[in-house]
Amino acid sequence: MRPKRLEMIYRTLIKEHSKNPSNKRNLEDTTGEFELFNPSCGDLVLVQFKLEDGVITDVSFQGQGCAISIASASMMTEIMKGKTLVEAQNLINTFYDLVKGNKEIDTKPLKDAVYLQGVSKFPTRIRCATLSWHALEEGLEEVEKE
Ligand code: ZN
Repeated sequence: MRPKRLEMIYRTLIKEHSKNPSNKRNLEDTTGEFELFNPSCGDLVLVQFKLEDGVITDVSFQGQGCAISIASASMMTEIMKGKTLVEAQNLINTFYDLVKGNKEIDTKPLKDAVYLQGVSKFPTRIRCATLSWHALEEGLEEVEKE
Protein backbone atom coordinates (compact mmCIF):
# COMPACT_ATOMS: atom_id res chain seq x y z
CA MET A 1 0.00 0.00 0.00
CA ARG A 2 1.17 3.52 -0.72
CA PRO A 3 2.14 5.47 2.41
CA LYS A 4 -0.51 8.16 1.78
CA ARG A 5 -3.27 5.55 1.66
CA LEU A 6 -1.96 3.89 4.81
CA GLU A 7 -1.92 7.19 6.66
CA MET A 8 -5.56 7.75 5.72
CA ILE A 9 -6.51 4.40 7.24
CA TYR A 10 -4.55 5.30 10.38
CA ARG A 11 -6.39 8.58 10.67
CA THR A 12 -9.81 6.99 10.11
CA LEU A 13 -9.21 4.35 12.76
CA ILE A 14 -7.99 6.89 15.29
CA LYS A 15 -11.07 9.01 14.56
CA GLU A 16 -13.39 6.03 14.97
CA HIS A 17 -11.86 5.04 18.30
CA SER A 18 -11.94 8.60 19.64
CA LYS A 19 -15.57 9.15 18.57
CA ASN A 20 -16.81 5.79 19.78
CA PRO A 21 -14.29 4.56 22.36
CA SER A 22 -14.35 1.06 23.81
CA ASN A 23 -14.56 0.58 27.58
CA LYS A 24 -15.12 4.26 28.39
CA ARG A 25 -17.13 3.69 31.54
CA ASN A 26 -16.93 3.60 35.30
CA LEU A 27 -15.84 0.30 36.81
CA GLU A 28 -17.34 -0.89 40.11
CA ASP A 29 -15.33 -2.81 42.73
CA THR A 30 -11.98 -2.08 41.14
CA THR A 31 -8.74 -3.69 42.25
CA GLY A 32 -6.91 -0.53 41.36
CA GLU A 33 -6.97 2.68 39.38
CA PHE A 34 -4.62 5.45 38.36
CA GLU A 35 -5.16 8.93 36.98
CA LEU A 36 -2.68 10.82 34.84
CA PHE A 37 -2.63 14.30 33.36
CA ASN A 38 -0.69 15.44 30.34
CA PRO A 39 -0.09 19.16 30.89
CA SER A 40 1.37 19.81 27.42
CA CYS A 41 -1.93 18.86 25.76
CA GLY A 42 -4.50 18.89 28.58
CA ASP A 43 -5.37 15.18 28.39
CA LEU A 44 -6.73 13.65 31.58
CA VAL A 45 -7.25 9.92 31.89
CA LEU A 46 -8.36 7.63 34.69
CA VAL A 47 -7.72 3.92 34.13
CA GLN A 48 -9.54 1.39 36.32
CA PHE A 49 -9.05 -2.35 36.40
CA LYS A 50 -10.02 -5.57 38.11
CA LEU A 51 -7.55 -8.37 38.85
CA GLU A 52 -8.29 -11.99 39.69
CA ASP A 53 -5.43 -14.41 40.38
CA GLY A 54 -3.01 -12.13 38.54
CA VAL A 55 -5.22 -11.79 35.47
CA ILE A 56 -6.87 -8.57 34.31
CA THR A 57 -10.56 -9.48 34.17
CA ASP A 58 -11.81 -6.01 33.31
CA VAL A 59 -10.35 -2.63 32.43
CA SER A 60 -11.92 0.72 31.64
CA PHE A 61 -11.03 4.36 31.28
CA GLN A 62 -12.59 7.76 31.72
CA GLY A 63 -11.39 11.21 30.92
CA GLN A 64 -11.06 13.83 28.29
CA GLY A 65 -8.43 14.87 25.85
CA CYS A 66 -7.32 14.95 22.26
CA ALA A 67 -8.34 12.31 19.73
CA ILE A 68 -5.02 10.50 20.07
CA SER A 69 -5.22 10.15 23.86
CA ILE A 70 -8.82 8.89 23.76
CA ALA A 71 -8.25 6.56 20.81
CA SER A 72 -5.15 5.15 22.48
CA ALA A 73 -7.01 4.48 25.75
CA SER A 74 -9.76 2.74 23.78
CA MET A 75 -7.23 0.58 21.91
CA MET A 76 -5.32 -0.20 25.13
CA THR A 77 -8.41 -1.39 27.03
CA GLU A 78 -9.42 -3.61 24.09
CA ILE A 79 -6.27 -5.73 24.33
CA MET A 80 -5.71 -5.89 28.11
CA LYS A 81 -8.71 -7.96 29.18
CA GLY A 82 -7.69 -11.54 30.01
CA LYS A 83 -3.97 -10.72 30.16
CA THR A 84 -1.70 -11.66 33.05
CA LEU A 85 0.38 -8.98 34.76
CA VAL A 86 3.47 -10.09 32.83
CA GLU A 87 1.63 -10.12 29.51
CA ALA A 88 0.18 -6.68 30.22
CA GLN A 89 3.63 -5.27 31.00
CA ASN A 90 5.03 -6.80 27.82
CA LEU A 91 2.27 -5.19 25.77
CA ILE A 92 2.91 -1.84 27.45
CA ASN A 93 6.64 -2.09 26.67
CA THR A 94 5.92 -3.09 23.07
CA PHE A 95 3.64 -0.08 22.71
CA TYR A 96 6.34 2.27 24.10
CA ASP A 97 8.77 0.80 21.56
CA LEU A 98 6.22 1.30 18.78
CA VAL A 99 5.60 5.00 19.42
CA LYS A 100 9.33 5.59 19.83
CA GLY A 101 9.68 4.36 16.25
CA ASN A 102 11.30 0.99 16.96
CA LYS A 103 10.63 -1.14 13.90
CA GLU A 104 12.12 -4.38 15.23
CA ILE A 105 9.12 -5.43 17.26
CA ASP A 106 6.25 -7.83 16.79
CA THR A 107 3.32 -5.42 16.64
CA LYS A 108 0.61 -8.02 16.07
CA PRO A 109 -0.42 -8.35 19.76
CA LEU A 110 -1.09 -4.59 19.87
CA LYS A 111 -4.05 -5.00 17.47
CA ASP A 112 -5.55 -1.55 16.61
CA ALA A 113 -2.96 0.27 18.74
CA VAL A 114 -0.52 -0.42 15.93
CA TYR A 115 -2.19 2.46 14.07
CA LEU A 116 -0.66 4.89 16.55
CA GLN A 117 2.77 4.16 15.09
CA GLY A 118 2.53 7.48 13.22
CA VAL A 119 2.95 9.52 16.43
CA SER A 120 6.63 8.52 16.52
CA LYS A 121 7.14 11.34 14.01
CA PHE A 122 5.58 13.85 16.43
CA PRO A 123 7.42 13.79 19.77
CA THR A 124 4.88 16.09 21.46
CA ARG A 125 2.09 13.60 20.72
CA ILE A 126 3.91 10.58 22.16
CA ARG A 127 2.78 11.56 25.66
CA CYS A 128 -0.83 11.75 24.40
CA ALA A 129 -0.56 8.23 23.00
CA THR A 130 1.17 6.68 26.02
CA LEU A 131 -0.84 8.41 28.78
CA SER A 132 -3.39 5.64 29.41
CA TRP A 133 -0.70 2.96 29.06
CA HIS A 134 1.39 4.72 31.73
CA ALA A 135 -1.72 4.99 33.92
CA LEU A 136 -2.35 1.23 33.69
CA GLU A 137 1.34 0.50 34.33
CA GLU A 138 1.40 2.73 37.45
CA GLY A 139 -1.89 1.30 38.69
CA LEU A 140 -0.69 -2.30 38.31
CA GLU A 141 2.60 -1.45 40.03
CA GLU A 142 0.72 0.02 43.01
CA VAL A 143 -1.38 -3.12 43.38
CA GLU A 144 1.68 -5.38 43.10
CA LYS A 145 3.41 -3.51 45.94
CA GLU A 146 0.53 -4.19 48.33
ZN1 ZN B 1 -3.22 14.96 23.69
